[in-house]
Amino acid sequence: MDETDYLIVGAGAVGLAFADTLVAEDPECTVTIVDRHAKPGGHWNDAYGFVALHQPSANYGVNSLAFPNEHIDTHGPNMGLFALASGAEVLAYFETVVNSRLLPTGRVTYLASHEFGGMDEDRKATVRPLFSDEEKTIKAGRKLVDATFYQTSVPSTHNRNFEVAESVDIVPPGALLELWKRDDQPEHFVILGAGKTAMDTGVWLIQNGVAPEDISWVRPRESWLWNRKYTQPGADNLETSMAMQIALLEAAGKAQDGAELMRILGEDDFYLRIDESVEPEMFHFATISQGEVDVLRRITNVIREGRVTAIEQGRLVFADAEVEVPRDSLFIDCTASAVPLETRRTKRPIFDGDTITLQPLHVPVVTFSAALAAFIETAFETDEEKNRFATPGPLTDTPTAFPYAQMVTMMNRGAWSQSPEIGKFLSQSRLDFGGPTLAKLVAEGSPKLAALGKFQQAIAKHMPDMIRLGLAAKAVHEGQ
Ligand SMILES: Cc1cc2nc3c(=O)[nH]c(=O)nc-3n(C[C@H](O)[C@H](O)[C@H](O)COP(=O)(O)OP(=O)(O)OC[C@H]3O[C@@H](n4cnc5c(N)ncnc54)[C@H](O)[C@@H]3O)c2cc1C
Repeated sequence: MDETDYLIVGAGAVGLAFADTLVAEDPECTVTIVDRHAKPGGHWNDAYGFVALHQPSANYGVNSLAFPNEHIDTHGPNMGLFALASGAEVLAYFETVVNSRLLPTGRVTYLASHEFGGMDEDRKATVRPLFSDEEKTIKAGRKLVDATFYQTSVPSTHNRNFEVAESVDIVPPGALLELWKRDDQPEHFVILGAGKTAMDTGVWLIQNGVAPEDISWVRPRESWLWNRKYTQPGADNLETSMAMQIALLEAAGKAQDGAELMRILGEDDFYLRIDESVEPEMFHFATISQGEVDVLRRITNVIREGRVTAIEQGRLVFADAEVEVPRDSLFIDCTASAVPLETRRTKRPIFDGDTITLQPLHVPVVTFSAALAAFIETAFETDEEKNRFATPGPLTDTPTAFPYAQMVTMMNRGAWSQSPEIGKFLSQSRLDFGGPTLAKLVAEGSPKLAALGKFQQAIAKHMPDMIRLGLAAKAVHEGQ
């Protein structure tokens, strides 16, 4: 029987971010990572070919390794903002993490193409290779780390929850890259879904020359989106990024609920939406540029009849309506939920006996949260101490539920500010949005810190408002 100190299930972004900090902070421990995928990077292996991070890569991935290519886009709808790492770049990055950071420690075993089958009371885990019958038993001497909490669902692997007639031409967005192989191109495209994948698909179609009038878009819900302009990293962008945080706190002082909070932030373009005439009912923490929104606004044939229940040739069926579309339309299925609603709720304490269940500490910054959880695991003794710094944050679904996520994030940050150990970790962590930037400015006594002073004043004044909204939103989230 093999033995390891930590058995991590999941070699996605979260499992790898945890492993990276764990081996750095505990120079003795051994780690085994199990994943059914053949390559590291989790869902990025299954993503559509034109996927990209929607946030700058400066704060994504693992703590010990920056992305190699951080530059400002000089063209396209993201012009003037940090370039977004493509899916291929994200996968290459995680492969480098495994091969150049984790395996060279000699303390990490990576079992690709292996299915985790559960752990018994003696901490003996069953691990099954996908391509042979030689089941393994691995003893997790210290802990089992569940890095599968988000149950990420992407178009190429999810199960559709609507009927599709046999004659219908329907593909996941990744298949658009294969269209050049067809002799005849579709005359009409129907995008199904209102999330970030659908938005990427709309931008891709228009950038590749499809006329906006040849696209129909089924959008059951409108979404609020973070304006990427306010999420740019580094000292030069500190004032802009702080402006959004300050505006959020000030809006909390005026708003009666999360929906109003977002409306206020939308008035100054801190938050964006594609159709300004429709009240958004969704907020999934996606980031977008004004340029991308402008491209998407060119698609005016938007179908708002709720979720599709069936597709027949030339016809979309909804619970209370049917909508005709051109007979030979190509339907593009962007209805996978990324993080399914049922996993948006917090599961259990992050530190719970012999199990660590990785969940967001700063919603929705999942790799930062995983790296910090590994630091907390090594820096403190008891579960009680650890959980004091690690309240699981919910991945809320709607504008009205969002203040709950924001409240937990801010309360965790408040707890971290009381710990010199965590403060030191944050000041050196590339994954923490403000961490090293602020530490450097403080060391230099930079005048740019004035923005931080205003932020602190806003916290002192409006944290009670955020808690008021957050507690009401918690009830909303738990009822959804
Ligand atoms: C298209 C897209 C773009 C995104 N962009 C961003 C972004 O810009 N910024 C951001 O912060 N977040 C983004 N996200 C959120 C995203 O979910 C996270 O960034 C992250 O990649 C999730 O990683 P994960 O490790 O939690 O999950 P996954 O990538 O799903 O990894 C979990 C792994 O666990 C494995 N696994 C599960 N169960 C078992 C089992 N029983 N046995 C063996 N293996 C198992 C799976 O095979 C999988 O590889 C994006 C998500 C999507 C879908």
